[in-house]
Amino acid sequence: MIYLDYSATTPVNKDVLEAFNEANLKIYGNPNSSHELGILARQMIEETTSKVKRILNANNYEVIYTSGATEANNLAIKGFAEANKHRGKHIISSPYEHSSVTSCLNYLAKIGYEIDILDTDAFGLVDLKQLEELIRPDTILVSIAMINSELGLKQDIKQIREVLKKHPDVKFHSDMTQAIGKINVDINYCDLVSFSAHKIYGIKGIGALLRKESINLIPVIHGGKSTSIFRGGTPPTPLIHSLGVALEKVYEDFDIKTTHIVNMYKYLVNELLPNIDIANLNSKTGIYHIVNISFLGIKAHVLQKALSKRNIYISTQTACNSESSFSLTVKRLTGSDDLAMSSVRISLSYLTKKDELDKLIVAIKEIIDENS
Ligand code: PMP
Repeated sequence: MIYLDYSATTPVNKDVLEAFNEANLKIYGNPNSSHELGILARQMIEETTSKVKRILNANNYEVIYTSGATEANNLAIKGFAEANKHRGKHIISSPYEHSSVTSCLNYLAKIGYEIDILDTDAFGLVDLKQLEELIRPDTILVSIAMINSELGLKQDIKQIREVLKKHPDVKFHSDMTQAIGKINVDINYCDLVSFSAHKIYGIKGIGALLRKESINLIPVIHGGKSTSIFRGGTPPTPLIHSLGVALEKVYEDFDIKTTHIVNMYKYLVNELLPNIDIANLNSKTGIYHIVNISFLGIKAHVLQKALSKRNIYISTQTACNSESSFSLTVKRLTGSDDLAMSSVRISLSYLTKKDELDKLIVAIKEIIDENS
C-alpha cells in the first residue's frame, strides 16, 4: 500500500499512540473530580496546555480543546459572531477556505450576517488592498486559512495582520489545520487559530482553538465543567495528552523532515511534468506537502480509482469534498474547466519514500495509456 493522502489525515505516530494508551490505562480519572486521580488528570491537561503554548509560542492564548478543527472553526466563527453581534455583523473571508469555515459563513449569512469574500490574484493570494477597502465600522471578523488544503496555497498572514493593525476592533481568525506541524507558523498575527491532531500524526477526535485572551466567544457546545468556559463536556484527558505529544513529535527534527518533503516534491514534479505532456501543475506556490496536478483529459475520479485499485491512495480535491470530479478550487485558481475536471491532490510526508513515488509515476503513466 502506498499512502499519498497525508493532507486528508496522517497515520498516528507510535509514541503518540503509546502516550494515549498509557494515559487511558493510568490517568482515567475525571479531571473535574477532586480526588487524587482527578487531580492527576487535571495536571496532565495543564502540562499539555503548557507544552502547546511553549511549542506554538502561544503564551497569550487560551488553549480550548475541541474534537478537531471543524469544531474549532465553528467555535471561532459562530461563537465569535454571536458574542460580537452587538458590534456588527460583517465578516470577510477568502474563497480558499475549508468547508468547515464556508459552512459556518453560509449559516451566518442565512441568519442575517453579511459575508464578503475577497478576490484573489493568479497565485491565489487574497487582495490586501480590497481587504482594506471592505472593512467597515460593523466589520467584526476576518477569517482566512493560512494554507488551503486542496492546493496548498499559502496566504501571507503577516501582511493580513498589517492591514488589520489600523482596525483593532476587527479580529483575525486563521484556520491553520494544514499549517501547524507542516511549516513554522507565527500564530501571534492572529486572534483565533484552529488546528487538528490527525493532520500531524496525532489521533482523530482532538484539536484546539487558540483564543487570544481578549477575545470573547459564545460556546457552540454548552455543558458542564470543562477546561474552558467556552466548551462544555468532560475533557478527554488521554486525547488532550496525545495532542501535546503529537505536536512535540511533529516538530522534532523538523528541518530534516522539511528538507525531505521538499526533495520529494521536486522529484515528483520533475518526473511528472516534463515527461507527461497532459500534466499541469495547478499550485505553483504554497507548501511542498501538496502537489495538485491535472492530467488533462483524464477525469480526477477515474485516475484516483485506478490508482486505488493498485493500492496507491491519493485524493480528488480534498477528502471532505471528494464526491465530484469537478474542483471549484482549481477552477477558481486556473479559470479552466478542463483542469478542474482532472485535478488530483498528492500529499506528501516525511514518511514518503522515493520508491513510492516511482511506483506512483509508473502507475499514472499506465493509467493514462489505458485511458487515452
Ligand atoms: N480545515 C482544514 C484546512 C482542513 O484540511 C481540515 C481537515 N480536512 C479541517 C479544517 C477539518 O479538520 P477536522 O477533520 O479535524 O475536523
